[in-house]
Amino acid sequence: MLKNKVAIVTGGTRGIGLEIVRTFKENHAEVILFGSKEESVNKAITDLAKEGIKVEGYYPDLNNPTEIKQVIEEINEKYGSIDILVNNAGISANKKIEETTAEEFENIMSLNVKAIFNVTKEVVPFMKNKKSGVILNTSSMVSIYGQPSGVGYPTSKFAVNGLTKSLARELASSNIRVNAVAPGITNTDMVAKLPKEMIEPLIKTIPLGRIGEPRDIANAFLFLASDLASYITGVILSVDGAARS
Ligand code: NAD
Repeated sequence: MLKNKVAIVTGGTRGIGLEIVRTFKENHAEVILFGSKEESVNKAITDLAKEGIKVEGYYPDLNNPTEIKQVIEEINEKYGSIDILVNNAGISANKKIEETTAEEFENIMSLNVKAIFNVTKEVVPFMKNKKSGVILNTSSMVSIYGQPSGVGYPTSKFAVNGLTKSLARELASSNIRVNAVAPGITNTDMVAKLPKEMIEPLIKTIPLGRIGEPRDIANAFLFLASDLASYITGVILSVDGAARS
């Protein structure tokens, strides 16, 4: 489904991002993964190689526009284009507002929102030159109704939805589609870190009766990245077993 496409996946070293990398590779894309650290990027590349999947990785500071510009230019030069950008890197929060520092709030907004702006800004000129491209952002089901604690996280994901819908309109005339996937609770390290008291009651409310697997989410990214979604832009696709309602 993604033959001859070049895709960058941020936060591609584990969890949902790593599964997107696998799924895109199975569908014949060239994939470049980004991670936060050299060690985690190397580990992901080595683990994928053991599965017979060959990818390259980078670890630019997603809040350093100069570093991002260099890396994006290098990738475009090396691969000839950047057709798909998946802005997936993200961190969550679960503390009550009184226990959350301004710095923690800012850190969430920096990675979950500003980093998307930073990377997208550098990729868009190359997509515009080619008059085609797909930008996909990882939102969350908490971007619909919020969550009972950890206010920075849903705040950041509401912003992701706003950025997605606005850029879809701004870039449509250049044939660049911009969509987001809003996963429900998904079986990754991010969820393993959250307290059981927070997760278990949530699972009970999921109509499909289970949490999502990374492949459930990656398949939605595959669809939106592919030409099957050629008339879909500005959409926030919920993949959450109907947990949002
Ligand atoms: P994860 O913690 O397993 O992976 C997070 C990824 O983000 C890693 O690849 C990591 O390298 C990268 N990352 C973290 N901090 C970074 C930094 N400072 N700079 C660059 N990269 C950094 O998480 P996940 O569950 O796979 O989450 C991936 C995305 O899915 C996030 O945007 C998250 O908000 C979203 N999401 C997850 C769930 C869930 O239940 N797991 C639900 C809804 C949305």
